[in-house]
Amino acid sequence: MFETISIPIKLPIKKTNSTVIFDEPLSIIDPGVKSLNTLKMIDETLQKKGKSLKDIRRILLTHGHIDHFGAAMDIQKISGAEIFIHPHDFEKIQRKNRNDDEFTLRYKDILTQHGCPEKGLLGIDRFWDYIKDMYDPILEVSFYQDPFIKFATTKLEIIETPGHTRGSVVFFHPETGLLISGDTVIDGITPNPVIEFLENGNRFASQSCFRESIQKISSYPVKKIIGGHGKENGDPKSLFKSYQEEWSKNETKLISLFEKHDSLSAYEALVHIFGELEDFNIFLGMSEMIGSFDYLESKEKIIYFEKNGKVRAKMLGITK
Ligand SMILES: [Zn+2]
Repeated sequence: MFETISIPIKLPIKKTNSTVIFDEPLSIIDPGVKSLNTLKMIDETLQKKGKSLKDIRRILLTHGHIDHFGAAMDIQKISGAEIFIHPHDFEKIQRKNRNDDEFTLRYKDILTQHGCPEKGLLGIDRFWDYIKDMYDPILEVSFYQDPFIKFATTKLEIIETPGHTRGSVVFFHPETGLLISGDTVIDGITPNPVIEFLENGNRFASQSCFRESIQKISSYPVKKIIGGHGKENGDPKSLFKSYQEEWSKNETKLISLFEKHDSLSAYEALVHIFGELEDFNIFLGMSEMIGSFDYLESKEKIIYFEKNGKVRAKMLGITK
């Protein structure tokens, strides 16, 4: 009933997993980036069971990143399929990223405040330019409402898993224990959240939410995981455990860095831990670092303060 296609993409992660659900209505989870090859690969999979792209009725998105939704509009044009997403990720799929749009300017502002040099901001511009043909913005969608997506012979539970993005969801198939997890759980990778904002302007607490979401999923009887990228995982317990280990390892690393310095900006911490990054990796690294800082702040281990118009952090209780 479930058939996963690994579709090549011109991004460092190389491939996106797209899953077709052969039931009524015919549905596809995360169709991948916009390209003729994407459409061809999905169509070939459908043809094997006597279907074609025009028979797709629902496009179910795990979250609003281009490597997952990029091809959705092309498929909708061919099939008239309804596109579903969590309301918190709708804004992401509506926009065509530009160097000077509201979101980009906000990202650049945050990066600058946290000590990031000009090359990090240019990295965002270059990335938007690089991916511009990989997606079409989606203006009309349906939101997941029921906790289940129903099919003629089965159903999938939609589990809200904010973290990687604020509107991330995963799909659980109770009969087989299969979890289709988007970028919330990926074999061999601890997914990184990207900076996001809440309606009130505050930063979304990506790391704490992500940890809670992993906790939530691990309470389900999951037997097999198909992540948004990479191979299937048949040992979910170990995978969830490896996430916990990774987090505590990173936390220890960061705390010991704070112990050695009076104060740190997120960018300084990034360079200490990952070295000098280039291009869009700076934005991704900064997203992770600011997320980690926010997490440590929420646990009252560090405190933010301002110095010369820039945001820095120091360990609580250290008054050097
Ligand atoms: Zn993603």
